[in-house]
Amino acid sequence: MINTIKLSDGFRRNFVREVILPLAAILLLTFAGAGAGLFWGTRLTNNEAQEQQQRMIEASFEQSLAEHLRQLRSLTRWAPLASQLDLSQPDQSWLDENVGSWLYEMFDHELVLVLGRDNQLIEVWRNGQRVPDRHVEPQVQAMLDTTLVQASTTDRADFVRIGDHAASLAVGEISGNTRQPGRYRLISVKYLDDHYLHGLANRSQLRQLHFSGDTSLPNDKAHYLLSSQQGDPVGYISWQPDRPGAQMLRTIGPSTLLSVVMITLVCLFMVRRIWTSSLSLSQSLLKLGASEAQAQHLAFHDVLTGLPNRSMVEDRLSQALAFAARYDHRVALLLIDLDRFKTINDTYGHHAGDDLIIQVGHRLTSIVRASDTVGRIGGDEFIIVMPDVENIGQVQSLAKRIISALSEPYQLFGSEAWIGASIGLALAPKDGLDRQELMRKADIALYEAKNCGRGQFRQFERVMDESLRTRQQIAADLRQALLHFDGLAVWYQPLMEISGQRVDGVEALLRWQHPERGEVPPGEFIAIAEETGLIIPLGEWVLREACKTSLRLPQLIVAVNVSPVQFRASGFVERMIEIVQSEGADPQRLELEITEGVLIEDEHEARNNIIALRNAGFRIALDDFGTGYSSLNYLSTFPVDKIKIDRSFTQSLGVAQNSAAIIESVVRLGHAMGLMVTAEGVETEGQMSALADAGCNQLQGYLFSQAVPFEELERMV
Ligand code: C2E
Ligand code: CA
Ligand code: CA
Repeated sequence: MINTIKLSDGFRRNFVREVILPLAAILLLTFAGAGAGLFWGTRLTNNEAQEQQQRMIEASFEQSLAEHLRQLRSLTRWAPLASQLDLSQPDQSWLDENVGSWLYEMFDHELVLVLGRDNQLIEVWRNGQRVPDRHVEPQVQAMLDTTLVQASTTDRADFVRIGDHAASLAVGEISGNTRQPGRYRLISVKYLDDHYLHGLANRSQLRQLHFSGDTSLPNDKAHYLLSSQQGDPVGYISWQPDRPGAQMLRTIGPSTLLSVVMITLVCLFMVRRIWTSSLSLSQSLLKLGASEAQAQHLAFHDVLTGLPNRSMVEDRLSQALAFAARYDHRVALLLIDLDRFKTINDTYGHHAGDDLIIQVGHRLTSIVRASDTVGRIGGDEFIIVMPDVENIGQVQSLAKRIISALSEPYQLFGSEAWIGASIGLALAPKDGLDRQELMRKADIALYEAKNCGRGQFRQFERVMDESLRTRQQIAADLRQALLHFDGLAVWYQPLMEISGQRVDGVEALLRWQHPERGEVPPGEFIAIAEETGLIIPLGEWVLREACKTSLRLPQLIVAVNVSPVQFRASGFVERMIEIVQSEGADPQRLELEITEGVLIEDEHEARNNIIALRNAGFRIALDDFGTGYSSLNYLSTFPVDKIKIDRSFTQSLGVAQNSAAIIESVVRLGHAMGLMVTAEGVETEGQMSALADAGCNQLQGYLFSQAVPFEELERMV
């Protein structure tokens, strides 16, 4: 979780730095560039337009000035006017009609004046009306006094200021009269009032033309400084400028804005997409990492218990050994094997078995130190690595504690169960500094512990290794011998009728003459054959030999020992029947000796096998009776034909006090169930008579004969 947060924080920062910032910068630059371009374009267009408007207004003013003069000249060059003025008594109403009123009505000349030769005012009209006694305002008088008016010799028009007003002024000589040229002058004034400007605006196609005498003009409006021809400022003309740039902006503005918004949205969308896809990418990378970590965990841990598995323990062991070699430390390795685990599995089921393994894991981890490693390396096999051992006593006490802790009862789905544990331990550097070597030695010690009756621990000793090597050698040699049955033989020991006079049957016993070791006792090699599985072909061969013997000596019952390993192998019953059939022997002349062990391991299966064998005709004997832990009552529930009282009972006769009583009760029980009772290991006459007194049916022992080769047996019977 912390990892996720860290990563997404880093991810966010990276994303902002590598995607959002550059993108935002690109967008900003693009928009700014486009905006600036648009702005300059607009401004340029506006400025050009304004200049053009200015030129237009300039031209309009010039034109209207020229017009003004032309209008004036329409009178000054009109002969009747000069003639009229020349009259001593000019007709005032004529003048009104043809000058003042006409100019006003026709051309809006607001102020019309006629000046005499000496510049005195002769006539004055204002707005087409004659002004009585030719009164003019002082401003008008001041205008009249200007050089423009005074010194003008030719017709002229110009813009002037009359007081606060600006005006178009035209001065023309009334030249209709040839006799007195230049005597009268006509002056007309058109104020640059709204009316005038309106006309001008119509002509120049400008809007809201205004005149202002003020020099401080509103900045936003376009303006034009109107000046006289001498260059004297008259006033500002301002107008509402036509702004094609703004117009353009208004037209393309919304669409531009829309595209800006669109581009921004598309970019945002893209950023979002990139964000989610890279987030999911980073998340899947994270998940990949997590599942990698999980796989890593799985690769090094046992799924059921969560404990380190073999490869991890081996790794830890290697480390500990490397450390031990460098710093002179001691390392202990404990291999723990559960006793009777298979029984739990068979009795309570696999779930219970799993549960038990988990509980064992808990118990182990609670016992060891934090620096020790507890691992599970097989079905019911655990391992402990103690990386720093001070003394061997510490390891031994741990082993004892483990054995007692694991022997405590377990709660399995409501019922109580018990198991035991065997431990093999090896120490580095004493037993080696190599991991595999140490494992092998701990394994040998474990084997010894199990062999010595389980529920114990054994520390590795050199002799164990030697015995193991010997065993391995024996197994190899036995395998070799089995190829052609070299050195292998079946000998027969007679089973005597109770009087000891007659041979009832024989027990087939394996003999092995080893090429170097000489005679190897079955007590040694049978166990090895069982461990290696060689007992199966070996046992089958013995049965074949026994069949042959039973055919040759049909008066005898031939007993054959059956190993628990054989008995439990699948198809065992069928194999027995098959062999006997193929040898053409009669199963009723054959007796199979089984031991108590096979009856306990899987009672149901054992019972079925026994029944099947008996149905096939075989006789069944329960060998080594009384050595195991099962009660006689329990054993007697199996449908066998015979019980063979173990030789330890026979040999305790006369030694242990109640041995005769035990034998007697066994015999009574056997007889009550209709079984035959044989006693083995009879070596003395005393034993023979005691066994006869106890009611035994059959005797076997050195008193009568050891096991002998077939030829000797043949002679005997
Ligand atoms: P077992 O089945 O109890 O066989 C009887 C053993 O007691 C034999 O030892 C026999 O020689 C020995 N014995 C007989 N009478 C006396 C006596 O008066 N005193 C003493 N001390 N011992 C006596 P052996 O032949 O060494 O066999 C040992 C064990 O090896 C057998 O015990 C049997 O469990 C196993 N075995 C032998 N042959 C075979 C075989 O062919 N198949 C299998 N599966 N096991 C075999
Ligand atoms: Ca036997
Ligand atoms: Ca026996």
